[in-house]
Amino acid sequence: MAFGHRYTGLIERYRDRLPVHDDTRIISLGEGNTPLIRLNNVPRHIGRDVELYVKFEGLNPTGSFKDRGMTMAVTKAVEEGSKAIICASTGNTSASAAAYAARAGITAFVVIPDGKIAMGKLAQAMMHGSVVIQIEGNFDDGMRLVKQVAESAPATLVNSVNPFRLQGQKTAAFEIVEELGRAPDYHCLPVGNAGNITAHWIGYCELSASSGEHVTEACTFCKGHCRFAGGGVAGQRPTMVGYQASGSAPFLRGAMVDNPETVATAIRIGHPQSWNVAWKVQQESGGWFDECTDQEILAAQKLLTEKEGVFCEPASAASVAGALRDIRTGRIPEGSSVVCTLTGHGLKDPDTAISQAGSAPLKVAAELDAVTRTILDNMG
Ligand SMILES: *Cc1c(COP(=O)(O)O)cnc(C)c1O
Repeated sequence: MAFGHRYTGLIERYRDRLPVHDDTRIISLGEGNTPLIRLNNVPRHIGRDVELYVKFEGLNPTGSFKDRGMTMAVTKAVEEGSKAIICASTGNTSASAAAYAARAGITAFVVIPDGKIAMGKLAQAMMHGSVVIQIEGNFDDGMRLVKQVAESAPATLVNSVNPFRLQGQKTAAFEIVEELGRAPDYHCLPVGNAGNITAHWIGYCELSASSGEHVTEACTFCKGHCRFAGGGVAGQRPTMVGYQASGSAPFLRGAMVDNPETVATAIRIGHPQSWNVAWKVQQESGGWFDECTDQEILAAQKLLTEKEGVFCEPASAASVAGALRDIRTGRIPEGSSVVCTLTGHGLKDPDTAISQAGSAPLKVAAELDAVTRTILDNMG
């Protein structure tokens, strides 16, 4: 056992691969270092022999992968002298921005849609003391507005169009390769703005190359912030697979969607900000996009909670819903290693969880007999 080694977040951990200086004040809540959990029961349940893992990003400090990007974005905003940050959000970006702004001692302005925001996420944004601006519109409307506002207002935009966000998020790929000793054959993610699938690809490409500044066409998106350190596992990169909700699937339609709808509110996005670069990721990796119905998404969420003890939010379950279908049909062949990113925690959206849980608590008298009988009636 090694004593005295406190984990202090992903910037310290991957300092040589991130755009920070020796004297940069790092704004961290100990994000990253999330578990890569091997699923045992689900592959057996579908009768397929695959090495299936979930990277449980819901165990980041504010309950989603957004913290990986936010530690970088807020660290750089503070370094540049910014006193405020601003974002549009379906919920998790606002929760994360609010927390890291609180940590840094600056103000967060968060623009959220009218309704359709999960209760846990709203609670976080409010508790961390951000200024919550609810607009009569959806995420895409909010995004258009904050981009315009950030041009003149003294607030740094921390949506994933901020290149430092993807730099922080690429570290998830580093952690996976460190644990497996190689890249998985397939990496499956839910896709909203498509920033995260792009960030993972940048991470895998950096590890697989042996030299060079920009290691992937997608990496040109980093606008020169990518500081590639060399080394790593040569020539191994996964096939990247992105899943969207059917009601908000611009990558499947091949065009922007104006009125996106899905129970998976975190990916209720019709105008993805990383549109062009995500197509490059798909082409470079030989991967694909596919869609899942809300029903498939909720079924996968339930399957993970019931069969594996892992509780993710609906959007996250899209990665598993899609992967299981592609494993069943053989598009992802048996014998493959597959990582699905579980982007956010199930506790974020208690309303959706309770409404689909199926069973209500059993009401019984506060007596030994009644409780014992209920237990015997419900065994196995
Ligand atoms: C933000 C988010 C997504 C979508 O990620 P993109 O980078 O926008 O594609 C998926 N799931 C959850 C839980 C999120 O918070």
